[in-house]
Amino acid sequence: MTKIDKIMRQICTVPRISLNLIYPKICGICGKINRNSLCKKCEIQLKKQAEIKIIKNGQDLENKYFSQLMYIFKYEGVIRKTILDYKFNDRPYISKTFVNFMLKDKKIFDNIQKYETIIPVPISKRRQKERGYNQSLLIAREISKQTNLDLMNNCLIKTKNIIEQSKLNKDEREKNIQGVYKLVNKQLIKNKKILVIDDIYTTGSTVNECSKVLIQGQPTKIGILVLAKD
Ligand SMILES: [Zn+2]
Repeated sequence: MTKIDKIMRQICTVPRISLNLIYPKICGICGKINRNSLCKKCEIQLKKQAEIKIIKNGQDLENKYFSQLMYIFKYEGVIRKTILDYKFNDRPYISKTFVNFMLKDKKIFDNIQKYETIIPVPISKRRQKERGYNQSLLIAREISKQTNLDLMNNCLIKTKNIIEQSKLNKDEREKNIQGVYKLVNKQLIKNKKILVIDDIYTTGSTVNECSKVLIQGQPTKIGILVLAKD
């Protein structure tokens, strides 16, 4: 075996997840070289599409186990396309593009600082293997890196692989998601203000089910942060 063969062999046996952590320095939207993961031109474009909202306890959150919902975009147009690309086309670096954009908003940045712990919505082992990464975890990790919040990825787990929620209607979604999450290491979230991270909010049944399970650990507050609302 030549030296090159040996190196190639080593590279190919590195688990996919660790390769995914090396992000290319490009804009997540247009793909041009950019150190901040978002070029000026695309930033202007995203600003036009942004619909940053913080919903607190209002009517919109009736019958919910969480008390706040923050979102950055409406789930449409170039945003929808980019999120789908991020989730399904092996583009983990887009997490940085989104986080860099959202943390530039003072309202969002200040509001995030009111929490203590970030918990990403977990995905099943099977999905993790197929996709190579959990899209919500990468966003949570990047937010944690850029703020003072602790990332906790060892409390909420997904115990079953279910049909994708996007393929179901509202009633089916609620039924489909029931009982699929489990809380472990309960003591870690006691008396904590928790921010749950997900990519898309449609009916809210996924983050609501997560919140219902997290409440068992007696946190003082649960808020939700998503990239886009459908
Ligand atoms: Zn760009």
